[in-house]
This record gives sequence, structure tokens and C-alpha cells, in this order.
Amino acid sequence: MEEARKVQEVFPATPTIEGAGVHLKRAFGFHQVPKLDPFLLLDEFHSSDPADYSAGFPWHPHRGIETVTYMLRGVMEHRDSMGNGGAVGPGDVQWMTAGSGIIHQEMPRGEGELWGLQLWTNLPADHKMMVPRYQEVKAMDIPAVDMPDGTRIRIISGQVAGVIGPVRDIVTAPEYLDVSMTAGSTFQWPTPTTHTVFAYVLEGRAEFGDESPPTVDAEQAALFGAGGKVALNAGDEPLRFLLISARPLGEPVAWEGPVVMNRPEELRQAFQEYRDGTFIKRGAVGQS
Ligand code: FE
Repeated sequence: MEEARKVQEVFPATPTIEGAGVHLKRAFGFHQVPKLDPFLLLDEFHSSDPADYSAGFPWHPHRGIETVTYMLRGVMEHRDSMGNGGAVGPGDVQWMTAGSGIIHQEMPRGEGELWGLQLWTNLPADHKMMVPRYQEVKAMDIPAVDMPDGTRIRIISGQVAGVIGPVRDIVTAPEYLDVSMTAGSTFQWPTPTTHTVFAYVLEGRAEFGDESPPTVDAEQAALFGAGGKVALNAGDEPLRFLLISARPLGEPVAWEGPVVMNRPEELRQAFQEYRDGTFIKRGAVGQS
């Protein structure tokens, strides 16, 4: 059996204001590059007060990355400048490959509880200008597999017990799992030795025995070190976490706001094109 990955670093999600004034929590972002390569950013927004989120994320461009929106409660409506649009509801996922460029807005709908996550993953240099693409998956089309000990895994991307998640053909071969465990239960999961692996705890506490640090709590991301599997226990209450991995790129990162390229001149070009109205190269394909 492969050696278990130790927790290398814990990133507590810290309050941040984004978009037009959305109060959210950021587990990692610009300042952590390249520790989580190919992952760039992870935000969690969770509030029942519309004042925290109703301003939303008005029109903005993306290029060179993928943004992955996973809603747990509430609805995020989106629309892009090419006329695509839709709603990401509870349990739904939108995996948006911005590629050469998308200009869109993301606006929370309604006034109740809003709870969701947005992950940014990087694209390799030879795919940064790929045709933009949406993979949108409704909650009912995201399979769940029941494991021993009452553990349930929702598979957004990757494969569990022969069941393949709906998000496919992503360059960095990501695995994106939503794992729910009963109190006190044990979880072991093989991860490709070549991949960067992290967990983000949504509810409860993950325990790693004599590891240092021994526990990871809700609203914390744990970056794992080298090894062939992840092994952890749920504390004395149910544990829910995202387990996410992908192949690192090992390329230079030039990042400004919603655009992430390899070289500063590519950033300058992107924002010049945005000002000139030539940012969009082609319409997005996909279900949106
Ligand atoms: Fe966006």
C-alpha cells in the first residue's frame, strides 16, 4: 500500500471582498502561487444575509484559466457576452474553461441562504487560448457512490468504484470529489503520486492521527505532501470535505485579476484587447 500523504500546510479561509462587494472567504489565491499548482484560487461564499452577496460579480473577463462553481445552497445565475446563460442551483456544477476568453457575469438569485464554492484551475501554456467551453452539470446528474462506514462520495470529476464523474476531458486530469463521512469513520483514498492534492473541509473536522497538524477544521484547506493516498478520520461529528487533485503544470504564472497567463506581456495584451473590444476570439461551446 502506498504511503499516506501528510498534511503539508493548512490554509484557513480568510474574509475577502470580491466582485461588486461580495463578502466571501478565500482559502488560497494569488499569494499562495505556486504551492497548489495547477490550482490558483478557492473561494467559499456562505451567507443568509443578501447584503453579503446580492451585489454579485458583474461583467468581467476571464482568460487562461478554468473556473469551477459548485453550489451547495441557493442559485447563481450567469450570463456571458455571447448570449449564453443559465443558473447553477443547489448541488449543480459549472466547469467553465475560459480558454481564449469569456466575458461574463455571475449574480446570486433570491434572498435566502447562498452557499457555494469557486475554484480556479490553471491551463497549460498550450491550452490557454483554447476554445472556451462550458460543462454544466445538474445535481441529479452527479453520481454518488456509497463506500464502507457510511461514507458517500459525489463524483464531479474522476472515477470512484468504476463510476465516472460527469466533468471530463479536462487537461490537468482533475479529480473533484465531495466526500461525506459519518462521525468517527475512516477514509482512505488513492491519489496519483504525480498530482497536487488538497482537501477543503465544509463541515466537521478531519483528523490525521499523529500527523502535524493533527486536525483540519471547516473553512480550512489542507495541502497534502508527497505520497500515494490520503488517509483521515472524521472527528466526533459528521465530516464533509472536498477532495481535489490534478496534475501540476510547473509553468510560469502571470496573474492579474481574472486573467492568468504565463508572461506579463500576455496580460498586457489581454487587457488591451478588453479595452479595445477584441478580447473575445470565439464563442464558447457546451451546454450553457
Ligand atoms: Fe467569473
